[in-house]
Amino acid sequence: MKASAFSYARATSVVNALELLVAHGDKAKVLSGGQSLMPAMNLRLISPELIVDIGEIAELRGIGVRGDVLSIGALTRHVDLLGSPEIAAHAPLLKEAVAHVAHPAIRNRGTLGGSLAHADPASELPACMVALDATIIVSGQAGERRIAAKDFFTGIYETALSAQELLISVELPVPQKNSTHFFHEFARRHGDYAIAGLAAQAIVEGDVFADLRMAFFAVGDRPVLAKAAKKLVNVALTPAVLSDASTALGEELDPHEDHQHPQQDCARSPTRAVPVGSPSIVVSDPVQAGPLSGASRSGILLGDWCGRGGQRR
Ligand code: FAD
Repeated sequence: MKASAFSYARATSVVNALELLVAHGDKAKVLSGGQSLMPAMNLRLISPELIVDIGEIAELRGIGVRGDVLSIGALTRHVDLLGSPEIAAHAPLLKEAVAHVAHPAIRNRGTLGGSLAHADPASELPACMVALDATIIVSGQAGERRIAAKDFFTGIYETALSAQELLISVELPVPQKNSTHFFHEFARRHGDYAIAGLAAQAIVEGDVFADLRMAFFAVGDRPVLAKAAKKLVNVALTPAVLSDASTALGEELDPHEDHQHPQQDCARSPTRAVPVGSPSIVVSDPVQAGPLSGASRSGILLGDWCGRGGQRR
């Protein structure tokens, strides 16, 4: 199938792109890397009358650190995130996660802004933004808005962006030295959309979490920042504490049918894709002290939740 006929405009600046979006309203669509937009058009899931190509707008590119803020332009491609020394140093969670996004051909074209604006609940990068407490910066004719990532994603393929706004960049707080992260996803094959996944960022003091943000993805209509993580903060992680947090997590997460592969039975629940009691596939030494064990413990929760969910169904 081919896309319906459409007009094409190459925006020369953010101001020019916004003028085009305002002039054409809901009939226009922004084009970044095209890795989600073009398939949707070819399948005629959407039929915009005008494509506003922002791919040549230099001001939307780039990764930089200013003080304690890491700034990433909307047009930064997945492959650039993978290769960036700034991302490796200041957002290693993002580097780890982006390696799971699709395959090299898609990572060579797909952009951070496109992934966030597309807001697929099974996507890795939206969950990372929530875990990393990112601020998403959008621009419209009335000026700029700064939106906390946890408020940006509002539903399946829905965000706080209006049709007349552009996602410009994201800002991430540079993590403290005693920070750690954890990323894990269950997928049919490496590069497939996740069946269930977890992106987590933590501050570790001694042998406890001083802060813990766990963002689950592919378990609802948007990334879920787990409230149950609070039960693991400033407390020794005994089996009883883990079990309590895990119970709370099980009540909080309500995975939907897998919308990527609805016809395939084992994908309906993330719980069926992993064996009961799967923590051992995630970590080898769950009680080791220090930052690594902090990361590992998040993994135990995911595995434990998957196992319990499996029994529930
Ligand atoms: P586009 O396709 O250009 O745009 C996507 C949407 O966002 C459109 O609605 C567009 O109008 C809007 N948009 C884009 N940029 C902006 C902006 N700056 N401001 C406002 N609106 C904007 N993604 C994953 O996360 N995980 C995967 O495992 C994965 N696997 C994939 C496998 C395949 C085979 C394919 C084709 C894609 C896969 N993707 C996956 C999607 C891929 O990561 C896309 O790159 C990404 O979702 C969209 O980025 P893009 O730059 O291509 O955006």
